[in-house]
Amino acid sequence: MTTRVVVLGAGFGGLELATIVGGHAAASSPGASSAAGSSAAGSSADVQVTLIDQAEGFVFGFSKLDVMFGRAAPDQVLHRYADLVNPGVRFVNARITAIDPATKRVETTAGPFDADILVVALGADLDPAATPGLLEGGNEFYTVAGAFAAADALAAFEGGRVVVAVTSTPFKCPPAPSETALLAHEFLTSRGLPCDITLVMPLGKPIPPSPDASSAVLKAFAERGINWIPERLVRSLDPARKVAVLSDGAELPYDLFLGVPAHRVPSVVAESGLAVDGWIPVDPLTLETSFPGVYAVGDVTSVGTPKAGVFAEGQAAVVAARILAAVRDEPGATEYDGRGVCYLEFGHDEVAKVDVKFVSGRPPVGALIGPSPALAADKQAFGRDRIQRWFGRSWSLPES
Ligand SMILES: Cc1cc2nc3c(=O)[nH]c(=O)nc-3n(C[C@H](O)[C@H](O)[C@H](O)COP(=O)(O)OP(=O)(O)OC[C@H]3O[C@@H](n4cnc5c(N)ncnc54)[C@H](O)[C@@H]3O)c2cc1C
Repeated sequence: MTTRVVVLGAGFGGLELATIVGGHAAASSPGASSAAGSSAAGSSADVQVTLIDQAEGFVFGFSKLDVMFGRAAPDQVLHRYADLVNPGVRFVNARITAIDPATKRVETTAGPFDADILVVALGADLDPAATPGLLEGGNEFYTVAGAFAAADALAAFEGGRVVVAVTSTPFKCPPAPSETALLAHEFLTSRGLPCDITLVMPLGKPIPPSPDASSAVLKAFAERGINWIPERLVRSLDPARKVAVLSDGAELPYDLFLGVPAHRVPSVVAESGLAVDGWIPVDPLTLETSFPGVYAVGDVTSVGTPKAGVFAEGQAAVVAARILAAVRDEPGATEYDGRGVCYLEFGHDEVAKVDVKFVSGRPPVGALIGPSPALAADKQAFGRDRIQRWFGRSWSLPES
């Protein structure tokens, strides 16, 4: 019997999952050579993978910063789904309009799809309009379009007061606002422009699971004169006065505002009944939702890890292993360990790595490696490897 796996969302989590399970499907289809791998031993074409996404292509979160700060052009960081070459994955370019987790049927603009196993990897939607004044008076840099527009704003900027700020919690990639402040400093000072940068963050420390990483970031802020305002959010902007209003009522004048917009589950998830208190609850070890045969991975969940691609990828690998075990009628023993390695840009080609582990019920721990120029190359290899694995093609990053 063929197991129909339908993966909703081709971001970090969906691409990883579809690649692993689709690799099995391709290897076990009639005519596949035995060189395709022993994992397919004993199976026929027993799994069919359908991957659905509405976007034109995939963009790494960190590539948004590369474009913003002039290190890459938009076209160099867009990985078009039309280029996907995994023969075991059927990619459908469509908007998902309804999800019924009880029947595992989804409705899309390309028609309905029925699944035996459904994986929700739809990420977090971003809502800049939720912050009064942000669209009119500032730049959000978390959507692809917003980051690319922020690149134009930065290119035209003649220097002055820059406020980098988070507007609500939770938010993806907690190090990204700190990286943005550091890269903005490099960008402005290397152009000889006046530079007065303030970072507003809801967290008490830049990288809460890693005291060493937090100290290194705070030291870098101090060396560069970056003003760090912890445990606060920006609630609104007054575009006429060019002032950001903080959660404690304080006001910050700015010439350029770079904001992290509000995050929420995509409306199709909210309407499906899968979300509780805003996000999809899952078993932290298996990533299963409360609906049998329905999994969720990545930013769309409330699994307890930060919303970041490396965690979405790790969760997807666990779900893929469990799906393949079920297809082979083996016990699914693989469990999620909450580990992820995040890169941290300091500017001037210095990159650090934070190796973090989140285990339910225990405080997270994170070791700092670097920063160093060698880790900048390591980060490039991270991106390159994934594009090779997911899209089956090489990706050469522009020299920074
Ligand atoms: C500036 C910035 C820097 C970052 N840096 C890093 C980093 O260095 N390391 C890291 O690990 N993470 C980083 N991240 C975070 C990372 O990008 C996300 O956490 C990660 O992409 C989440 O993966 P996901 O699979 O859960 O969702 P996503 O990758 O967001 O994928 C969700 C997919 O679902 C699709 N979708 C949504 N709704 C629908 C619908 N109704 N119909 C069809 N398709 C739909 C979307 O088009 C999207 O392709 C960064 C993020 C930002 C913004």
